[in-house]
Amino acid sequence: MSAAGKESKRVLMVGLLCQDILNLVDHYPTEDEDVRCVNQFWQKGGNAANSACVLSSLGETTEYLGTVSSRAEGSSALKEMQTFGVLTEHVVYSDCPIPTSCVIINTQTGSRTIIHGTRNMAELTAEDFSSLDLTQYRWIHFEGRNTIEVCKMMEIVEDFNKKVLFVSKEYAESCGFASAKETVKKLLKRVKKGCTVLCAWGDQGADGITPEGAHYHCQAFPPEKVVDTLGAGDTFNAAVIWGLCRGTGLEGALRMGCRIAGQKCGQFGYKNLH
Ligand code: ADP
Repeated sequence: MSAAGKESKRVLMVGLLCQDILNLVDHYPTEDEDVRCVNQFWQKGGNAANSACVLSSLGETTEYLGTVSSRAEGSSALKEMQTFGVLTEHVVYSDCPIPTSCVIINTQTGSRTIIHGTRNMAELTAEDFSSLDLTQYRWIHFEGRNTIEVCKMMEIVEDFNKKVLFVSKEYAESCGFASAKETVKKLLKRVKKGCTVLCAWGDQGADGITPEGAHYHCQAFPPEKVVDTLGAGDTFNAAVIWGLCRGTGLEGALRMGCRIAGQKCGQFGYKNLH
């Protein structure tokens, strides 16, 4: 959702911070195969945390809010996020192991196969959220997890004037939709009045629809070689928010989202996106 405000206000990203363990392989393994990866590295992950880093890199004053492991591996992921300039002073610490995602990246195609482990990490609650001073924020983005609590948080934000819903391809397909265009057109009829709906569809680009029903499609911007699509959607969301905060309109924001997400697919990690 967005709340129009002054330039100095922050964008708040609410959701998960986790540890990604990336295994880069030169072919996708078959079951029970014993393979050696060509490279392996750890990086911070989580949809909201990834988008927060991209937004901050694009020059937006950005804060991340979520539960963070108070153990050593939690503070390392938090520090990594802070190196992107993301503000984190309101995070809620929890004495749980950090959630992890083990990822297989096929360097031939850039595909990412992900196994998530929540490891019983406590979720952020509406009560945690209610202690924030909402006047500090120009935009609040909620990752759609722990939906009962997230809905309560959205109710707390009473002074909103517009809402934006990002729908993933996976969710759209689970609803029986076959394209981004079909998704945004059909979902617009189901969501609350005044809501803009966006849906990214991998290498097919993304579509968006305004509350009035104006539909836009933007093609993907394929990099020279697709090497890593992990977090392409998070990057897309961040770049769209950046555009909408700057008044590009939906069409311009979609283009910004696809351009920056395409750039991300041509590199590992989230640095130097512009
Ligand atoms: P995720 O699976 O991370 O949610 P998506 O597959 O929905 O991400 O992709 C988000 C955006 O990233 C797309 O709208 C597109 O702009 C870009 N993108 C994803 N895959 C590719 C690709 N293979 N080539 C170019 N751009 C891509």
